[in-house]
Amino acid sequence: MNDCIFCKIVKGEIPANKVYEDEKVIAFEDIEPQAPVHILVIPKEHITSINDINEENSDIIGHIHLVIKTIAKEKGINEKGYRVVTNSGKEGGQTVFHLHYHLLGGRNMMWPPG
Ligand code: 5GP
Repeated sequence: MNDCIFCKIVKGEIPANKVYEDEKVIAFEDIEPQAPVHILVIPKEHITSINDINEENSDIIGHIHLVIKTIAKEKGINEKGYRVVTNSGKEGGQTVFHLHYHLLGGRNMMWPPG
């Protein structure tokens, strides 16, 4: 998508502090971190949200979870714990309409989230 900010990060048109990349996904630091570790993991393919996951593209979800696990270990938060969030739609708090998973860690998380 031409006007999608995360597609621009995928294409290298906007800079990002990348922490992981393979042929299917990239992960980079959130520009407004909400925790000592705040990484966004996104598919390179433009998928708007969970609402657009289907039988054809659902393999990416398992792959993203494996990448999250790897990054959590690399960041040293796998033992103490971390949170994984994906917001879907406006009421779900989604502000960038390209599927992404927030990996948050390095502090105690609150529940319920706001
Ligand atoms: P959402 O609100 O859609 O769940 O999450 C979008 C996230 O993307 C927010 O945490 C926001 O800080 C982050 N974000 C928005 N624009 C940029 C950007 O240009 N670069 C980076 N690295 N993060 C961004």
